[in-house]
Amino acid sequence: KAKGDGRNTYCFYDEAMTERAFERVFLETALRKALEEDELVVYFQPQIDARENKLVGMEALVRWEHPIMGFIYPDKFIPLAEITGMIVQLDRLVMKKALTQFKKWDKAGLNPGKLALNLAIKQIEENDFIEFIENILDCEDCSYKNIEFELTENQIMNNPEASIETLQKLSDLGISIAIDDFGTGYSSLAYLKRLPIDKLKIDRSFIKDLPQDADDAAITKTIISLCSSLNLKVIAEGVETEKQKNFILQNGCQFIQGYYYSRPLSIEDMTKYLIEHNKTI
Ligand code: C2E
Ligand code: MG
Ligand code: MG
Ligand code: MG
Repeated sequence: KAKGDGRNTYCFYDEAMTERAFERVFLETALRKALEEDELVVYFQPQIDARENKLVGMEALVRWEHPIMGFIYPDKFIPLAEITGMIVQLDRLVMKKALTQFKKWDKAGLNPGKLALNLAIKQIEENDFIEFIENILDCEDCSYKNIEFELTENQIMNNPEASIETLQKLSDLGISIAIDDFGTGYSSLAYLKRLPIDKLKIDRSFIKDLPQDADDAAITKTIISLCSSLNLKVIAEGVETEKQKNFILQNGCQFIQGYYYSRPLSIEDMTKYLIEHNKTI
């Protein structure tokens, strides 16, 4: 083996690793600052009852408006926030911001429906989580029954026993629980029955190639009938076309979230959306 090769290979990995490490430290420092300096904003994506053509709720989705790097999507920083533990603070901030805005729409009579919030499982494991929820919901004067928490299938199923107690407390408060990205992880059917879950969100990877893809069509139908058997609500994510919408609707799922109806909207755009929507209902 040539000496030069080895050294070059070594150098290559070394540089790449240094770059990645640098990027991570840079991003981590920037994210910490973002939390302090209030650079995170919340967007809202409508959830639609496709049978009635009616808004039933909205999902809060975080975005980062960095003064120099610009608009940054969550896939770029949520994983880092999870590794570093910053996700607990981040999700609480998003909850507060989203609830404050949601309450304004509700008070203005704009019928915003339900508010869905994404939670990392770490949040559920915090000792003061229930206390935190009771506090923000009380001071925001927001009815519990309009709140839904989304946890991904992978995160819940990683440690379902640990989640049961807290999820049950949330459920007792009247908060609903949805399993996000359903179908991408490994769910135990026994846990689906035992956990206090209200809804499954069909992951958008199964919707993307509908209706042509026979496997995806079969999976989607199976999830919908599973929900009907277990008495769970079901919503399809990532619906972009009319054909996809029709397929979903014809197969018994009437709730849809996706670009076909609307992209996630800024507060200003969602306000306009709600005003327009209220004229038609
Ligand atoms: P998610 O919770 O599954 O949210 C749905 C994602 O699909 C959103 O991406 C949304 O913009 C996107 N989407 C919706 N409809 C369509 C469609 O028709 N086509 C396509 N191509 N995409 C669609 P986004 O906003 O980039 O968020 C990505 C993920 O980041 C979320 O997936 C969620 O897991 C996480 N996330 C976002 N906000 C928060 C937050 O505040 N806290 C936590 N813990 N996670 C969050
Ligand atoms: Mg979600
Ligand atoms: Mg999802
Ligand atoms: Mg996702």
